[in-house]
Amino acid sequence: MDMNYRYLLLDMDMTLLDFKKSEKAAFAGVMESLDLKFTEYDYSRFSHTNDELWKRLEKGLINREQLLACRFGIFSEDWGVDSPRLNEMFINNLAGRNDWLPGAEDFLKALHGSGKYKVYIATNGPVFTVMGRINASGLEKYVDGIFISEKIGASKPSPKFFEYAFNEICDHDVSNYLLVGDRLSSDILGANNMGMDCVLFAHDGIFPENTRGYKINYFAGSYKELQGLLEIP
Ligand SMILES: [Mg+2]
Repeated sequence: MDMNYRYLLLDMDMTLLDFKKSEKAAFAGVMESLDLKFTEYDYSRFSHTNDELWKRLEKGLINREQLLACRFGIFSEDWGVDSPRLNEMFINNLAGRNDWLPGAEDFLKALHGSGKYKVYIATNGPVFTVMGRINASGLEKYVDGIFISEKIGASKPSPKFFEYAFNEICDHDVSNYLLVGDRLSSDILGANNMGMDCVLFAHDGIFPENTRGYKINYFAGSYKELQGLLEIP
């Protein structure tokens, strides 16, 4: 295989950093601060709500403010704390988390060390929590730049997100880019919208069951596979 790409656009959550682990710890921290006993049930309700809201944001059905205002709505009354305050506690906890997926840091180190590509993070999320987690994990030292949807004013899969990145990188030739991400609705659709090649990555080897309608150039089910695919020693 000929890997003649110049730039890699790497998704961050569940591609490099373990968002699920960080989210759970941040949520448990909120309950702990309120002297409430953490339960898996409460966490799964929150996680499900948050995930659904992000999907609606990706589709442009709601905006970021609505997402942040709504995700603690179901707990606010039960816990007697208003939703914005719960959200603030949550994002403060989340911003301090440094949870790498197992093997991700070694992969990124090897990728950076090889000098074969310019490497950029392309992530949806609020600047505050994304930069907090990037600083806490030390991820920044392995990449050439970081693109965050809130700063850009557009989220993956919108072409606006990628056009911003292409402008910053000063190269509009889409054939020079390869996107690596775990999510069909943001990463893969975003690449497809731009006509950009892409890798569907599953750190645990578990791919989405139904990928119909998406153009996926490569699959990688582990960091080892991804490293081999990218021809990184
Ligand atoms: Mg992701």
